[in-house]
Amino acid sequence: MNKGELHVHLNGLVSTDVIRGLLVRDRSELPSGFDLERDLNILKPADSLSSYLKPWQVLRLIPKSKSCLRVIVESAFLNLKSQNITFVEIRNSVIYLALLNNISVDEALCWLVTEIEEVSEKYKIQAGLILTVSRGDYAPEHLRALLGAYEKLGKPNAIVGLDLAGNEEIVSPAETGSLFLQAKDKYGLKVTIHAGETGRIENIISAVDEFGADRIGHGTAASKSVEVMALLKKRDICIEVCPISNRLTNAVNEWESHPVIDFIDHKVPFVICSDNPSIHSSSLTEDYLEFFCETNSSQHLCNMYENQKKYSFIRGLCGN
Ligand SMILES: [Zn+2]
Repeated sequence: MNKGELHVHLNGLVSTDVIRGLLVRDRSELPSGFDLERDLNILKPADSLSSYLKPWQVLRLIPKSKSCLRVIVESAFLNLKSQNITFVEIRNSVIYLALLNNISVDEALCWLVTEIEEVSEKYKIQAGLILTVSRGDYAPEHLRALLGAYEKLGKPNAIVGLDLAGNEEIVSPAETGSLFLQAKDKYGLKVTIHAGETGRIENIISAVDEFGADRIGHGTAASKSVEVMALLKKRDICIEVCPISNRLTNAVNEWESHPVIDFIDHKVPFVICSDNPSIHSSSLTEDYLEFFCETNSSQHLCNMYENQKKYSFIRGLCGN
């Protein structure tokens, strides 16, 4: 089956072997007790979101050069190719790339856009980049830096959207939402917000009302409220459902049925995505299988490619 991928983080898509090889080659100093054989993958439900995020303790140590970034992007696209993915929206928080390499945010964004454009062309996979901003005090500052770089680079077509991610308990400064809205208005960038992954339904409502979300990442908490599901349906806001990730982060506990069943019942739009497939030692195909196990619905999988095109932020895909 041809597929589209609308929610995947660059570092979570790169093969674990490649990550391990780069860390060893660069003699990166690992956090004490971090086992490169054991701790780069999450294969069973984590005790908490922070233990799920353990691989990022070392993922944030790479790439330490432009050539290393190339290796990472190549590995990511090879993995997409193996899944018959014809278009992808890749997320990355470019700020850490700038800090790690001691370069400006402008230069870091230029590196990333260049590599994605070249490798996308090489593997004939249409690609868009979503700029991820982390929740917290620095969210407005980081977003301004990213948008400044976007302007300086001449608003590359490869950049298609903005994303807010990170600990949902953390409140970001009030202006963050209006900055997202302004970016939508001024540049036509689309918005997706990681919201409602850890039960906070109010984050879904604020994603829609304050950030102008076009899509919601995970959104598992939406199933708790008929009103919120009606809101998402009415505004045609698509939920990025990541079945394997949701089980491994415990966003959906093992004794619960997956909320996607409620999304189907209430006709809330959704697409299946993989989030961090290499961390899960998995793939988008396995997320489709997990979805089938949860729902017994093959019809939604048959329609998935058209649905992914419809809700993609990449312009010019047929169907959107
Ligand atoms: Zn995610």
